Amino acid sequence: MPVYEYKCNDCNENFEKLVSGANPDVSCPKCSSKNITKKFSLFGMSGVEKPVTSAGGSGCSSCTSSKCKSCH
Ligand SMILES: [Zn+2]
Repeated sequence: MPVYEYKCNDCNENFEKLVSGANPDVSCPKCSSKNITKKFSLFGMSGVEKPVTSAGGSGCSSCTSSKCKSCH
């Protein structure tokens, strides 16, 4: 089930909600307003290819740490 992130336009509350339908009836948990904006889904981004950043222990020859930021 996807998690959607919403923002209330009345009180600027940001909240997440698990929804099952395509057009769920979502209201603000703080002020119960329905003047909300759906931002994006955390799991609904299929088709968007993320760059692979973790190549598995990416260190350089001069350091053994996996976080190789200080020597580059
Ligand atoms: Zn609100």
